[in-house]
Amino acid sequence: MKKELQDKILQRFPYLFSNIYYDTPLGQRGIECMDGWFDLIYELCSKVNNILISNPISGFKVVQIKEKFGRLRFYTNNDIREIKELIREYSDKSETICEVCGKPAKITKRIR
Ligand SMILES: [Zn+2]
Repeated sequence: MKKELQDKILQRFPYLFSNIYYDTPLGQRGIECMDGWFDLIYELCSKVNNILISNPISGFKVVQIKEKFGRLRFYTNNDIREIKELIREYSDKSETICEVCGKPAKITKRIR
């Protein structure tokens, strides 16, 4: 993802990204998907952030955000049910949004 978009996400949600994350794939490689998912990821982070505001979890961090097989993968260092459900919801949603342009889309099979 373009650095300026990525920074908007990383700087906006302190509960998700204020911990040192340089030892993680996110810290090393940034958000590993294209710009079309900016809104999707921003919205997911905002909801996770809201959960953490009402139920602070010390040391919570996002470890990796990437695309795999046309689907958003969003990994954290915690297994909180409410957050896991949100992540699943947004990963499902990612299959209906073009990773490049953000318009409605569906996963197509590659011809080998
Ligand atoms: Zn597109």
